[in-house]
Amino acid sequence: MLSCVDDLMTIGEFSQRSGLSPKRLRSYAAGGLLVPAAVDSASGYRYYSPGQLREATLIDTLRDAGMPLADIAVLLCDPSSDRLDSWATRVEIDAEHRHKALDVARHLLSIEATSFTPVSQDRTGKEPRMTLNTVSRTDIGLVRDNNEDAVGNNEHFAAVADGMGGHPGGEFASAVAVALVQAAFTGRSLDELEAAVRAANWAIWDRASASAELEGMGTTICAAGLTGDGSLVVVNVGDSRACVLRNGSLMQLTDDHSVTAELVRRGELSEDQALDHPHRGILTRALGVGPDVELDSASHPAEEGDRLLLCTDGLFNEVSNDEIASLMEATDDLHATADALVNLALSRGGRDNLAVVVAEISL
Ligand code: MG
Repeated sequence: MLSCVDDLMTIGEFSQRSGLSPKRLRSYAAGGLLVPAAVDSASGYRYYSPGQLREATLIDTLRDAGMPLADIAVLLCDPSSDRLDSWATRVEIDAEHRHKALDVARHLLSIEATSFTPVSQDRTGKEPRMTLNTVSRTDIGLVRDNNEDAVGNNEHFAAVADGMGGHPGGEFASAVAVALVQAAFTGRSLDELEAAVRAANWAIWDRASASAELEGMGTTICAAGLTGDGSLVVVNVGDSRACVLRNGSLMQLTDDHSVTAELVRRGELSEDQALDHPHRGILTRALGVGPDVELDSASHPAEEGDRLLLCTDGLFNEVSNDEIASLMEATDDLHATADALVNLALSRGGRDNLAVVVAEISL
């Protein structure tokens, strides 16, 4: 029992005087901020001192400015106007990104309202040239408690995403990433797909910065689209993959953005060593962890009969590229291929969530 609580306020009193809800106070304390001055060891009651009211107002003001709790913690430990200036610069950059995202949205809305042409129709009025037949699967696997992988696909688009940040952030981030990019990509160009991914990055980062529950979330994204000029455009962030099977050969179209993949590319680690490396799962890039994101993007000439696979690491950590290639070649039935890939990964232990899109380019 506390020896003296005369000067202290209960969490209810402190909440009333500071204007911060008890829930918010608890979430701040969980982040190491505004830690109660005392806690009754018997009852667990939290007590705050009157001197903490100023700190409460300061923290809440900085939250209003959009500053994440981790940055606030650093600022309180080492208060300096330089830190505030640097945050002000970030806010300006964010505002610029919001304006860009709004410009993209305005552009897309005006296309839809006036002259939107689905990608399956050539914009010159000729017969459609190519379409993407897609089938997707996602599976929780055999070990995880929730599924943080997401898939999205339609007749000109395919994407997979692998969320991170725990429940509920990881699921939220991957689902939002796929949904936003799919909604914004109309099959126009690689630039359009890049803008869609950047806008999704900003949306996830903004949401993560504003919510203690979602803070720290992020996701990979690997998105591919077929454009009206017959190109397969691909944008990638993180360690999900896009591969194409052409004439019996499986070619990986994307580079993984992970610590081990970077070491392999630099010649400091072999592919085999990377398989068991303790840092295998650590990403060097992800969507939603900052206001801007570096994208890998490329445009490839699409050919009729190309088979496309997009997948998260839950598949390729369990199933080799040779096995993937032979399963993709084994049948023309895309549903059967997707099922076979997922089932093989599950039979190997299903240690991670799985997301798979298989697709075929056809006239
Ligand atoms: Mg994964």
